[in-house]
Amino acid sequence: MEQNQTPVQERPPEGVRLLPPEETPGPELPPKPSRPAKRPPRRGTRLSLPALAAALAVLVAVLALIKAADPFAPAPEESGDPGVAGIPEWIEIRLLPENPYSRPGDPLEQVNGVVVHYVGNPGTSAEQNHGYFENLASTGETYASSHFLIGLNGEVLLNVPLDEIAYCSNQRNADTISIECCHPDATGEFTAATYQSLLSLTRWLMETYGLDSGQLLRHFDVTGKECPRYFVQHPEAWEQFLADAAE
Ligand SMILES: [Zn+2]
Repeated sequence: MEQNQTPVQERPPEGVRLLPPEETPGPELPPKPSRPAKRPPRRGTRLSLPALAAALAVLVAVLALIKAADPFAPAPEESGDPGVAGIPEWIEIRLLPENPYSRPGDPLEQVNGVVVHYVGNPGTSAEQNHGYFENLASTGETYASSHFLIGLNGEVLLNVPLDEIAYCSNQRNADTISIECCHPDATGEFTAATYQSLLSLTRWLMETYGLDSGQLLRHFDVTGKECPRYFVQHPEAWEQFLADAAE
């Protein structure tokens, strides 16, 4: 430690001050205190290589941490191949990064239905639910995602390409497209804007994949789960939705 003090103070400060003391090659330094002042270039060269390497390593690590922790950083895939041709422009393509928990990348080889869900978290936005799916890639806390999220204002996000499976509808993941809808309160009833977007999206999917309204399902119809709650507690509202979709 003491031997290091003199050269550190006399040479140009940049690289060395970033170094933890134990990484400075102190024992290799000649003990004469007058040398550093007379021959700074040589000494500087010997010190700056490991110093720069260490500083760069620290910098890279810090930048990586900042990027990983920054919620406003753009997602690795802000857009991409939606997996189907002719996707309407009102669908925002926001593909999740491929990961085992929310976008496994397994092919969806056939589409025999559309399954409707509610997010079950009153007042949350499409953006927040999208962020939840995205974070699963790093938290790994569960397996969940939906192809689509519809927000309280009717915005439509595509999270998973339509030629890949999503983790939303249990035993029907392998042959259906899933839509999760946001809702303002615990009744699970959708806003008018959400309902209209659900209708538009469902009609487009029926046309694109040649489906009829008999192939529109509630999550409840697959597993018996109370999802989407309002359409389970109000079967007549679900029947109305099927009629609207068939128009
Ligand atoms: Zn559901």
